[in-house]
Amino acid sequence: MTKRRRWILIVLGAAAVLFGVAFTQWQAAIKRNRSIPDDPFHIAGNLYYVGSTGVTSFLLTGPEGHVLIDGGFPETAPLILGSIAKLGFNITDVKVLLNTHAHSDHAGGLRELQEASGAELWVSEGDADVMAAGGRGDRALGPLGTLGYYLGGLKFAAPRIDHRFKDGETIRVGPIELTAHVTAGHTRGCTSWSFPVRDGDRELLAVEICSLTLFPLVKLVEPEAYPGIRSDFERSYAALRSLPADIFLASHGDMFSMQRKRGERAGAKDPVDPFIDRAGYLSFIDRAEARFREALAKQQ
Ligand SMILES: [Zn+2]
Repeated sequence: MTKRRRWILIVLGAAAVLFGVAFTQWQAAIKRNRSIPDDPFHIAGNLYYVGSTGVTSFLLTGPEGHVLIDGGFPETAPLILGSIAKLGFNITDVKVLLNTHAHSDHAGGLRELQEASGAELWVSEGDADVMAAGGRGDRALGPLGTLGYYLGGLKFAAPRIDHRFKDGETIRVGPIELTAHVTAGHTRGCTSWSFPVRDGDRELLAVEICSLTLFPLVKLVEPEAYPGIRSDFERSYAALRSLPADIFLASHGDMFSMQRKRGERAGAKDPVDPFIDRAGYLSFIDRAEARFREALAKQQ
C-alpha cells in the first residue's frame, strides 16, 4: 500500500468513527428527551394519555378489557405501566396491544408491555416483518436507517405478533372498536387509527395519525427506497383527509400540540374541547404533503 492510500484509509476510518459517535449521541439525546415521565391524563370518554413527554401511548378502556396503542421506547415501557396504574387501571385488563409503526420509539416497549399484560398484539402486514426482526430491514428509513440499526439506536426487543391485519380492518374488544388505516410511507405498514369516543351526549371520532415524516436521503423516485413508497405517501394524504376526524392525535405529542392543548383544558368550557381540532388535523396533513412535494420535486 502506498503512503498516500494509507493516509486516505486512516482519514476515512476516523471520519466513520466520528460519525458513528455523533449519530449514537444524537439517538441517545432523542431518547432522553422523549422518555421523560409525563403525568397521565383523561382526554375524552374512555380515552386516556399514558405516554411519555415525547412519544405517545393511548389507553382505551372498556368493560371487557382495554386497548393500548404504542409502547414507546424500550425505556418508556415502565413509565407506561406506571401511568396505567396511576389512573387506577390494571395492566392485566389490557387485552389488545396496537402500534402505529415498527420504529424503536413506538414499538420498543411492546415486548415488556406484552409480558406484563398478556395482551395480544396486532401488527399491520406491511410492518410485521420489521417488527418481528426487532427493527431490522426497514427500507423506508433510507440509508440512515440501516446505519442507525447497526449502531443500535433503532434496534428493539421483538414482541410476539399474534395477528396481522390489512387496511380497513376493525379490531374489537367488547364495545371498543378501532379501524386500521394503513397510511404507509413513513414505514411500509404505518397505521393510523380511528375510533369513536362517546363523551357525555356527543360521539366524537378520534384519529391518531401514524406519522407522515419523510426521512432525509429517502428516495421517492426509481429506484425508490422501497417499491411504491411514493404512491404510498400520496395515498396516505388522501386517506387521512377523507376521515371526519374530531379529536386529533398522533404518535408524537408535538405533532398535535399536545402540551398546549393540555394546558388549555383548565380554561375551556369542556376539557375535551381543546383536543377537538379538525383544522389542526388538516393543516398537519397539508404541511406534511408540502414537504413531500418539495422533496419529490428536488429528486425529479
Ligand atoms: Zn417513526
